[in-house]
Amino acid sequence: MQDAVIITGSAGGLGKALSDTLSSNGSNVIGIDKNTSADITADLSTTHGRQLAVSSALDICPHPKAVVANAGLSPIHEDPFAILEVNWLGVKELLDSFLYPLSGNRAGCAVAISSIGAAVGGDKELINCLLEGRISEAKANLNTVLQSNATEAGIVAYSSCKVAVAKYVRRKTKLWGENGVRLNCIAPGRMETAMLDGLLSHDEIAPGIEALPTGIIKSASASKVADVVAFFLSDQSSFIHGQVLYVDGGSESLIRPNII
Ligand code: NAD
Repeated sequence: MQDAVIITGSAGGLGKALSDTLSSNGSNVIGIDKNTSADITADLSTTHGRQLAVSSALDICPHPKAVVANAGLSPIHEDPFAILEVNWLGVKELLDSFLYPLSGNRAGCAVAISSIGAAVGGDKELINCLLEGRISEAKANLNTVLQSNATEAGIVAYSSCKVAVAKYVRRKTKLWGENGVRLNCIAPGRMETAMLDGLLSHDEIAPGIEALPTGIIKSASASKVADVVAFFLSDQSSFIHGQVLYVDGGSESLIRPNII
């Protein structure tokens, strides 16, 4: 296959909306998901699953056009350590592995999916552990939170991963640019998927989500956010590299107006 777009978490939510949008525009899409409906079934919460995902995708398309590291677990997932595996290692290890294959494609680019959660939370020490590859320490740090509050552990794990993903993109601007591959990040706000439904039905978490300030519209469909990812993958955005864009109806700007 030529010029494929590889999408993780392709079986639901944003990943599925993006797969549908790109496929209907004639792009070749390779979907990766733990759900067996995907082109490649792989569990990104394990090292084996991540390696399988990369090798299987490159078997199908050795020089893909793009990679979208989208798969993520919700803050309310029952195992906060799995959140570190999927939302951090499932992004970082995949992007690291795809850089050189992407550099073999004239239009190679990638998008990582962060979250509005990056603007409102995260633990500094945990974030540093993730970015510096100290995963055992990250897990020990998270375990301390887990011992006192399981809900909080999920939130801290989620937000810390989303900060780490955005910082990863910023810090890789030079390396990826030198290899001719654009790398950007989209941080959605309230996006209408199964993940948001779960959060809004959680007694402890729903009030925080409802309290997010709204600048223009309260939430968006996954396909609305997919359109922005598709733009970041297109030639129309060929001058955009190393950026984190909040696609959130203005929530992030309202929360921290002085950050540019
Ligand atoms: P979703 O839960 O609707 O879909 C996630 C997809 O990822 C599913 O198809 C699921 O099977 C897959 N997945 C989960 N764990 C996996 C694993 N271990 N291995 C392989 N695939 C796995 O989620 P969504 O709302 O579409 O979220 C997509 C991305 O957007 C995530 O990174 C999420 O953190 C982020 N995000 C979502 C929202 C929101 O409001 N929905 C807001 C901000 C950021």
